Amino acid sequence: MENFIGRLEVVTGSMFSGKSEELIRRLRRANYAKQKILVFSPSIDNRYGENGIYSHNKNTVPAYSVSSLEQMEKILQENIDVEVIGIDEIQFLPEGIVELCKKYVDLGKRVIVAGLDQDFRAEPFKPLPELMALADDVTKLKAICMVCGKNAYSSQRLINGEPAFEDDPLVSIGSVENYEARCRMHHIVRKRQYANLKLKFVISLNSSELDENIKKDYYVYKLDTSLKVSEIRDKINDLRQVHKKIIIFSNESVSKKIEGNYTIIDLMKEYSKLCNIVVYAKKEFNIENSMMTTLFLLNKCNLSAKEYLI
Ligand SMILES: [Zn+2]
Repeated sequence: MENFIGRLEVVTGSMFSGKSEELIRRLRRANYAKQKILVFSPSIDNRYGENGIYSHNKNTVPAYSVSSLEQMEKILQENIDVEVIGIDEIQFLPEGIVELCKKYVDLGKRVIVAGLDQDFRAEPFKPLPELMALADDVTKLKAICMVCGKNAYSSQRLINGEPAFEDDPLVSIGSVENYEARCRMHHIVRKRQYANLKLKFVISLNSSELDENIKKDYYVYKLDTSLKVSEIRDKINDLRQVHKKIIIFSNESVSKKIEGNYTIIDLMKEYSKLCNIVVYAKKEFNIENSMMTTLFLLNKCNLSAKEYLI
């Protein structure tokens, strides 16, 4: 009886998380067990040629390259005794694919689908959310952040080496170098309205005055840690409406608490996707030690900073 109960399995995650490898592994296992398998891959995804699903390491299983649900139905009707149906890169197949999966699960088939759960803006990517809800089993794989090496969360889209804007077109199967796996901290979605905004976070170790060279053309906002965090955010937002170049300046320690346990470092993290961090100091005896300590603290929080000594 067990054999007549269908099953939906979803393999998902960001790019470079090994979804296709995992799909291929499951299909091969079924194949070794002499089960009849049928595999589909959207024809839009022909990165490695037609008629196969391919992992990045060129592992392949034969697949039908399809662009419509009618094509899939026709092939399925001709193979009525199929036991396992594999579908790769399911996010590129037309709407209605969820219904098709449900139909064949109800007919007792084991349906295994692989696809991206998020688009490059880290928003849910149809039809994965619905498939994940309907699935008997969901495997969410993780790539490694190409910036820091921690578990990745989403796919970063880069255009000419720069993070893509939020309104750049959604679907574009590009070459590998256009995308990177990134963690939450390093995943960036640029907003068009801030395209020309330059934001610097300057921490001064021993001076309350900024060198002319560093503040040239910039509006300097001196961070007031007696304010609430929400008030500081409002202030920075207001300034963004008026100024194109802003320095958030502080001469307090980066571990200084602003509100509760929320420190200056936490504020930097919040703005790290928008701004460069500079640790600033006047040359004087032993300043190298506090410079190193500050850079180390920032580094520990995955923040990279430049040093500026005058
Ligand atoms: Zn990272």
